Amino acid sequence: MENLHLDGIWDFMVNNRETNPILSKMKDELYVFNDVIASDVMTIRSLEKVLTLSNYNNPKAENNFSVIQLANTAGFDTFWISNQQPVGFTESTPTIIATAAKHKQFLATDSYMYSIYDEALLPEIKKALKETGERKLIFVHLIGTHRTYKKRYPENFSYFEGINERTKIKTEYSKTKVNEYDNAVKYNDLVVSNIINLVKEQENNSFVLYFSDHGDDVFDTQDFVGHHTHKGSKPMFDIPFLSWFSKDYLAANKRIDTLKTYSNRKYNTEDFIYSFSDIIDVKFKGFDAKRSIFNSDFKEHKRLIKDSLDYDAWKTTNASDED
Ligand SMILES: [Zn+2]
Repeated sequence: MENLHLDGIWDFMVNNRETNPILSKMKDELYVFNDVIASDVMTIRSLEKVLTLSNYNNPKAENNFSVIQLANTAGFDTFWISNQQPVGFTESTPTIIATAAKHKQFLATDSYMYSIYDEALLPEIKKALKETGERKLIFVHLIGTHRTYKKRYPENFSYFEGINERTKIKTEYSKTKVNEYDNAVKYNDLVVSNIINLVKEQENNSFVLYFSDHGDDVFDTQDFVGHHTHKGSKPMFDIPFLSWFSKDYLAANKRIDTLKTYSNRKYNTEDFIYSFSDIIDVKFKGFDAKRSIFNSDFKEHKRLIKDSLDYDAWKTTNASDED
């Protein structure tokens, strides 16, 4: 999963392209958070913190207690459906964490260099939704807009072609890359909205939560495309974070009702496990309501990134680079 360019949806004047037409139409049904960041701009390092108790101050949390283990313990039937090549089962923490799921599927066996389309996940999600079982949790790991952008959407999804004025760097190469990126984001809009609709069709107590592992800088602030630790810029840390809740879910979880007012909370997905625990209503020892974006006791705390850099102090200077 990667940058959905939410500016495109909610502030059409800022991003000059409509890269999220379908989700934009569903806006009233969604809870969109505007100020969420990834703890790291690299996939695996970001996911390690997202899925476990690890965070900036405690990078190697004990036991690697994960969201999947939490769901398993609470009696959920857990599914992990991935469109990303599993990095060696003994090498990558996200893969090890994923193997704790009761049902595991890795659809893509090829690397990022190959054409991989996320619509391949939809029939598998459908199947998982049809499985019997009282409580189910389906984790879907999209390939999203991970490079190479052009290989993330079918040919007939080449929609944007012209020059995009949004970027800082304007060359023939950046024009091509920005167009491919925007096409990939527009395709992701279709995939994410389809997933929400599949869950919605079930008409039961359910929710969908979507976010990215990190963003990409696509010539937004520098002569660079993608994400890289040493090039880490604001667009690489800024990520979309949105949720959809069914009527039954909202009726059973009244506290969620006021969420619309929570949309500007400053959040770092290294605290995701607390939000996850809250949203599935299963608490664990060490649960901290202050770290759940869905909780009325939520409290903002310093968002440290890179080498003890305060994201909120840094973002203004970094953002001023964007014209
Ligand atoms: Zn990634």
